[in-house]
Amino acid sequence: MTDRIDALVIGGGVVGLAVGRALARAGLEVVVSEAEGAVGQGVSSRNSEVVHAGLYYPTGSAKARLCVRGKQLLYAQCERHGVPHRRCGKLVVATDDSQHPALEALAQRAGANGVPVQRWSAAQAREAEPALHCTAALWSPSTGIVDSHALMASLQADLEAAGGAVALASRVVTASFAPGRPARVTVDDGGAGFELDADRVVNAAGLWACRLAARFAGLDPAQVPTPHYAKGSYYALAGRSPFTRLVYPAPVDAWLGVHLTLDIAGQARFGPDLEWLQTDDPAGIDYAVDPARMAGFAEAIRRYWPGLPDGVLQPAYSGVRPKIHGPGSPAPDFRIDGPPQHGVAGLVNLFGIESPGLTSAMAIAEEVAVLLR
Ligand SMILES: Cc1cc2nc3c(=O)[nH]c(=O)nc-3n(C[C@H](O)[C@H](O)[C@H](O)COP(=O)(O)OP(=O)(O)OC[C@H]3O[C@@H](n4cnc5c(N)ncnc54)[C@H](O)[C@@H]3O)c2cc1C
Repeated sequence: MTDRIDALVIGGGVVGLAVGRALARAGLEVVVSEAEGAVGQGVSSRNSEVVHAGLYYPTGSAKARLCVRGKQLLYAQCERHGVPHRRCGKLVVATDDSQHPALEALAQRAGANGVPVQRWSAAQAREAEPALHCTAALWSPSTGIVDSHALMASLQADLEAAGGAVALASRVVTASFAPGRPARVTVDDGGAGFELDADRVVNAAGLWACRLAARFAGLDPAQVPTPHYAKGSYYALAGRSPFTRLVYPAPVDAWLGVHLTLDIAGQARFGPDLEWLQTDDPAGIDYAVDPARMAGFAEAIRRYWPGLPDGVLQPAYSGVRPKIHGPGSPAPDFRIDGPPQHGVAGLVNLFGIESPGLTSAMAIAEEVAVLLR
C-alpha cells in the first residue's frame, strides 16, 4: 500500500525547511524531501547571509512585503534559538554626485516599504567608517547578517519538534495531480525508489524548481516559467576588515553591485558579481571562481574603498541565482503559485526565489501555509 501524508515539501533549503516547519506547526503530517545527503547544500549555502532590510524592492511587491515580514520573523527565530546573527546595519553609498538621485530614490522607496533609513552626509559616513570614500550615504540600521546553516538547523529542529521529518537522499522525480485525489509522488532514494501520496505538495526545489514542475502531470506547462541561471562570485579579503558595517554601492538596475559583507566572525568578503550562465541544466554548473574576475572586483571596490591594497583579494566561493527572467528584462517578483494561479488543488510552486529569499523564507512559509489551509 502507498503511504499517504498530509504534505510533502520538495527541497530542504532554507525555504523548504521554513515551509515544512510552518505546515507541521499548523498540525499537518509533513515530510521535507531533500535530494542531497544533507539539508542546505543548495542556494542556501552559497549566498551573502545578509538579512536584508527591504529597501530595494518595488513597493507592494511580494519581495518588499515578505522581506520586511521575513526579517522580523528571522530575527525572532535567531533570538529564540541562539542562532548567531548581528544587526550590524549597512551603508549604501554614492561615490559621485551623479548617483545622488539613485540614493534619494532608494530612500523614498525604503520609506514607502516601511523600512527605516537615515540620510547621512559624506562626513557622517566617514566618521563611522574612516576608510570609506563616498559623497553621500544611506544608513540602514535594520540590515544584519546571519549564520544561515545555524538558521536552517533551527528550522529543522522546530519542524521535527512539531512531528515533521526530513528525508535525505530522496529526490522527487515527478508527481501526478488529478482532481479529487492526493498527488502521487515518485521518489528516487538511490535504491528501488518508492511512491507516496500527498494531499499537499510544495515545490521548493530552488535551482531545479522549474525543471521539476515541468514534469508534473496535471499541471499546465504554461504555468512553468523558463529558468535562467546567473552566477555570483565572491572574493575574500585577507586580513582584518576596515569596515564594521556592510557597504553597498548605489544600485544599478536590479543588481546591488559588488558590495562588502561580513560574516559572523567579522571576515570581509566582496561580491557577488553577476554572470549569466549559458546552461539550462543546473547539474552542470561550475562553481569555481574565475581568478580573471579579480581586476573587475578591485576596480569596483576602490570606488568606495580607495585604500584597497594590492594582492589582498582571494577567490572565495560562488552561488547561482534561480532566475525566471533573462538578461536585459526587468527582475520579476517572487512567484508563489498556488491553486488560484494554476488551478491545481494542493500544489504550490515556488519560482524565482532569489535574493532576498533567505531573509524572506519564514514569511514565504506563512504565505504558503495560508494558501494550503
Ligand atoms: C549569490 C547569492 C547571494 C544571495 N544573497 C542573499 C542574501 O544576502 N540575503 C538573502 O536574503 N538572500 C540571498 N540570496 C537568496 C537566497 O540564498 C535564496 O533565495 C535562498 O537560499 C533560496 O532557498 P531555497 O530553499 O529556495 O533553495 P535551495 O537552498 O537551493 O534549496 C532547494 C533544495 O532543493 C533540493 N532539491 C532540488 N531538486 C530536488 C528534488 N527533485 N527532490 C528533492 N530535493 C530537491 C536541492 O538539493 C536544495 O537543497 C542570495 C542568492 C545568491 C545566489
